[in-house]
Amino acid sequence: MAATRTFSIIKPDATRRNLTGAVTKMLEEAGLRVVASKRIQMTREQAEGFYGVHRERPFFNDLVSFMTSGPVVVQVLEGGNAVQRNRDVMGATNPENAEPGTIRKELAESIEANSVHGSDSEENARIEIEFFFKPEEIVG
Ligand code: AMP
Repeated sequence: MAATRTFSIIKPDATRRNLTGAVTKMLEEAGLRVVASKRIQMTREQAEGFYGVHRERPFFNDLVSFMTSGPVVVQVLEGGNAVQRNRDVMGATNPENAEPGTIRKELAESIEANSVHGSDSEENARIEIEFFFKPEEIVG
């Protein structure tokens, strides 16, 4: 199967608990390859832009505050059917509903502090990758 790409964020609850490696190991064991990775402190402007589709949601302000509360690790992941593969290993948004063995079931703290973000479509993956990475920063 042709390799495709998706975009991932290891969120502040995971970096705070020193789980960058643990999350990455689960991604790799699911058949995804990290082809770009950087640890950043997201600005409020970046978080508001990235989550712009959720601007009208009641949880928007809390989400932006949370995503800027500490470092995150933004990554580009490559693999067969990367978007769906990543969503499968992440598990449901709410860790209470996530399957055993998924990142969110094993590591997440709550629906907000849910350890990882993953693109929900190939089109959004392209947009989200472009939001954080220059083409030359991605080395497959
Ligand atoms: P998504 O764009 O699907 O990644 O959703 C954005 C993020 O918003 C999720 O990963 C959660 O961290 C957060 N979120 C989604 N729904 C809720 C909710 N009902 N309450 C609080 N945070 C939420």
